Amino acid sequence: MQAADAAPLLLVHGGAGALPRLLDERQTRAIGEALAQALRQGLAVLQDHGRALDAVVAAVTVLEDAPWFNAGRGAVYTAEGRHELDAAVMEGATLRAGSVAGVRCVRNPVQLAHAVLERSPHVMLSGAGADAFARQAGLPVVENTYFDTPQRENEWRAWQAQAGAGTSHYGTVGAVARDAQGTLAAATSTGGMTGKRWGRIGDSALIGAGTCADAHAAVSCTGWGEFFIRTCAAHAICSRIAAGETPSGAAAALVLRQIPALGGSGGAIVLVSDGGYALVFGTEGMYRGAIGADGVPRVAIAPGPLRPAAES
Ligand code: ASP
Repeated sequence: MQAADAAPLLLVHGGAGALPRLLDERQTRAIGEALAQALRQGLAVLQDHGRALDAVVAAVTVLEDAPWFNAGRGAVYTAEGRHELDAAVMEGATLRAGSVAGVRCVRNPVQLAHAVLERSPHVMLSGAGADAFARQAGLPVVENTYFDTPQRENEWRAWQAQAGAGTSHYGTVGAVARDAQGTLAAATSTGGMTGKRWGRIGDSALIGAGTCADAHAAVSCTGWGEFFIRTCAAHAICSRIAAGETPSGAAAALVLRQIPALGGSGGAIVLVSDGGYALVFGTEGMYRGAIGADGVPRVAIAPGPLRPAAES
């Protein structure tokens, strides 16, 4: 007997480094539109009977292409003034996963992570080898300068002026989704941290740290990656949910207690198999949104409820 279709659901985040008080109306509107567009793209995949995995890749691709977020175009600069990008995807029902770290020329790192999952015998590729795999897989490649934006260049120059002190940690993008089969998936993509060096890799690319999905939950994190790695945050949230905790309780345990107690901060989006979800952050704001069967994208930046995105 065929089980009834699960209602489609998709959440996105654009990083827990949002500073709502510094955004003017035009920026707030443009960011809201980018989040809404990502939600609509992901939902279109789900409504077309697509898999949750394809939906999260579609949503994150939109966010990578938008200049507002620290992923794809708009990624932060390394100490040397380049961009090195990390991304990961994971499918809950099968525990299949793909990730890439420190890539420099694939236009959409999330699509490369997806290609690693679908078309390679491996889970994680890095650096020049991953870029070579992107070319072999026929994914669009770009000059590293494609990822440049004036805002990130200013942040990098400010970082240099302070002799490398202080850095922005939070701007990653991510999505979690549930498809008609009830399968969950998660995807995360980031430029990492301004001024990173020595081939630093953050939590986003690490399955179980910044990205995780199983039969019970899908999680994408944003924040100071070192702390999310040390706490295996995304996997810890999944494990708590498997043990019976609510999505908000499980996310709060990591994001509002364990990670701050160690000196870190950030946020996470969590979707569970019965459709419950949470968007939790311990920072001033987090770009975030959700969409369900009614097709209305709901978004927010500052603390408070999600609201319908303005029609563009
Ligand atoms: N978690 C990411 C990293 O540490 C950064 C972020 O969320 O903005 O690479």
